[in-house]
This record gives sequence, C-alpha cells and structure tokens, in this order.
Amino acid sequence: MLLLWRRSLFLKTCAASSYSMPAGVVSFVPASASIDSSALEGLQAFVARAKRLFVITGAGLSTESGIPDYRSEGVGLYARTNRRPMQHTEFVRNARSRQRYWARNYLGWPQFSMHKPNSAHLVLRDWEEQGKIHWLVTQNVDALHTKAGQQRLTELHGCSHRVVCLGCGALTLRAELQKHFAKLNPGWEVQAGAVAPDGDVFLEDDQVLHFRVPPCQACGGILKPEVTFFGDTVQRGIVQLVLDRLAESDAVLVAGSSLQVYSGYRFLLAASERRIPVAIVNIGPTRADHLAEVRVSGRCGEVIPAIQPC
Ligand SMILES: [Zn+2]
Repeated sequence: MLLLWRRSLFLKTCAASSYSMPAGVVSFVPASASIDSSALEGLQAFVARAKRLFVITGAGLSTESGIPDYRSEGVGLYARTNRRPMQHTEFVRNARSRQRYWARNYLGWPQFSMHKPNSAHLVLRDWEEQGKIHWLVTQNVDALHTKAGQQRLTELHGCSHRVVCLGCGALTLRAELQKHFAKLNPGWEVQAGAVAPDGDVFLEDDQVLHFRVPPCQACGGILKPEVTFFGDTVQRGIVQLVLDRLAESDAVLVAGSSLQVYSGYRFLLAASERRIPVAIVNIGPTRADHLAEVRVSGRCGEVIPAIQPC
C-alpha cells in the first residue's frame, strides 16, 4: 500500500513523455568486448522459457542514461573522482555534512532529475506489459524504471525523487524541496559557480556555509532523501516482500549489477537455495557468476533489446 502511494505521489509530477539516450552519455559506460553470440543465444532461450521472470537491476542499467556509477573500471566515480557515497551515520549526526550534501544536491538536481530511461528500461517495461516479468527489483534510486512506466517494481534502496523526514516520517517530493531551497537561497547558485558537465558539483567550504537547509515543515525534523545511504539497512518488510515475489518466480535475470552490495546479492542466494535458474547481463564479473547458468558480458542497452521475450 505504501509503495503504491509512493508511486502515485511520484507519477503526479513525473512527465513520462519521450525517451532517448542523451548525447555524450557513453563516457560513463565501461568498455566492453563484442557480445558472444552463443551466450546471447543462451540468454534468448533462458528468457523465452521463463514464465514469471524476476529481474534485478543495478547501476549498469543507468550509465547508458548518463548517470555515472561508483564501481565501473575507469569511468565510475571511484575511479574518476574522490567522491564517496554519503554514509548514513554521518548524515544523521553531522549538520555540516547535511548542509554540504544538500548544497551539492541542490545544484545537481536540475540535471539529475532530467535523466531519461534508455532502451533497456523501455524493453523491460514492455516485457512486463507482455506478462513476461513477474517482478522487478532495482538497486537504483534514479526513478528511471518508474519514468519508463514499470509497475511491478520495488525500489530496494528508495528513490532520490522523494524526501523523508527523520522526525515524523512524512514523505514529500524532492521537486518541492527544490522550490523551497530556491526561496531560502536566492542567487546562491550563481555565487557557487557552474555545475561540471557530468553533474558532479564541487563546493568550497565558505560556499556551503551560506547554504540554508529547511527543516520538515510539519515537525521541524531533519530532511533526508528517501534513499538508503551506505551503512544503513533496507527495511525488513521490503526485503520480505521481494523474497515473496522471488519465491513466486521461475527465473532470475540480473541486469547491470556487479552485485557487490549484499542487499541485492542476498536475492541471488535465495534464488540458489530455491534452485531458481539465474542469468546475468553485465559488463565485467559479478559476485554471483558462479550461480548463473547464463552469463552475457555486454551493455544492457545492447543485449536486452536484442532478446525476444517469447
Ligand atoms: Zn517531520
């Protein structure tokens, strides 16, 4: 019920119109060799056989929409920058860290919120409409599956398009907070300087010092993106819901995830326990390669649209 409400909250303001891959986004996609044709045939047979497909997606699906991931060799944020993900305890305990986080987030939001689903998102949405997909779990917080129109969906780590109050739990739209930030900080972004082309924002300490962050309008509590930061855990109820959907499925497809984070990997362990067959599409090795009967190394936007669901 809560998830349905969250989706309607988002869809009210999400313009789901035209989708295309923006120019220049390939800079975030790691290099990959040509796709092995026999592996692709294996995936085709795997998907055609599945009646109730359970799909897990990760950052590799969104790099082709222009959103950099953390771990990709050479092009991920770990490789290119000193940026590291916000830790949950640091955000909760440190007001200065929150101020810095929101200042950077405020500047990056106009560009980040404009990202569009790519061909892989759209094909997965089509597979759902055709009855192929039983459930889709994404580790991404970019709302691209929702923008594509995916319905049978769990956003495992939340969604950056929503904001939660740590005091009263109220959920609000990130887009509304942007308006609030703008009112509280007139002209601030001009003073802070331009955003880098890839959306990374670097700010000096004195620039951050003058950025004003509003509290929750209902209770005065701390506002946080409704996203599971590193060091936090996914709610037990959400994990159980996903495990239930997995138990109803007859095949698992991993798309664009190295499964390095346990919160996603656990579903592969559960699939293995239930002897549910697994296929993986990803550039580079994954933590679950030993559990997969089919493994295709390549870009999701190239591999998934090449598969006929029936
Ligand atoms: Zn509140």
